Amino acid sequence: MDYFYCSPEKIIESTLEIDGEEFSHLVHVMRKKEGDEIRVVDGRGTAYDVCLDLIKKKTARGTIHATYAHHHELPFDVTLAVGILKNPSKFDFLVEKVTELGVKEIIPLQTDRTIPSHAKADRWKKLALSAMKQSGRSVLPRVSELTTLEEFIREAGSFDVKLIAHERSVDAHAGLTMVQSNARAVAILVGPEGGFSDDEVERCVAIGWTPVFLGERRFRTETAAIVMTALTVFLQSR
Ligand code: SAM
Repeated sequence: MDYFYCSPEKIIESTLEIDGEEFSHLVHVMRKKEGDEIRVVDGRGTAYDVCLDLIKKKTARGTIHATYAHHHELPFDVTLAVGILKNPSKFDFLVEKVTELGVKEIIPLQTDRTIPSHAKADRWKKLALSAMKQSGRSVLPRVSELTTLEEFIREAGSFDVKLIAHERSVDAHAGLTMVQSNARAVAILVGPEGGFSDDEVERCVAIGWTPVFLGERRFRTETAAIVMTALTVFLQSR
């Protein structure tokens, strides 16, 4: 089943309208035509089975005949805050993979050791949209603007599990066992190429972040982000 995106404001009762880039993808790339069945997601958690009934020059109208709430989404929220990387395309890969895994929000972080770099938030939003459709999800992960670690941990009160991936922590799996509780909102912190400074880790642990040690091997940031997200998703879903 091919998935397409339609913004919620273009979904009115049992009719929806696809335009813009999504229209080009639907008609010119995927060569859909009137009478075809497609699945549409609104990026807020609902999927629709739609029959295309009118395709004009720049818009396609469809009639909804089935609706699926919380379609292919996790029963809890995962927020990933991760140090931005010198090579922005490595961050592209990270955004795509953690979107497939079910992350709800991705926060590019500026930390003590990140190389000053401009976050490519618009590019990453597009990648998240494409990965949402490809993986058959219905929630479009939010990719926020570049945020400092300080700003993020100051606002992080609402998470009931807070994990910081740390290659030098001693209490190996404490954090991950916490995920098996009935967590509703899990936050994951992963450092940039240079890692978190000791001071950053101490500050996070002091306010309730649990260090998670992933073994003796040193992962790249994108690997650690994917592993942490996958472990959280699968442990919590057990
Ligand atoms: N500063 C580290 C060093 O040079 O040894 C490398 C940092 S690593 C490239 C980037 C981030 O991935 C770390 O800040 C940490 O969050 C995570 N990470 C990498 N390997 C890990 C491991 N074995 N256990 C837990 N976290 C790890």
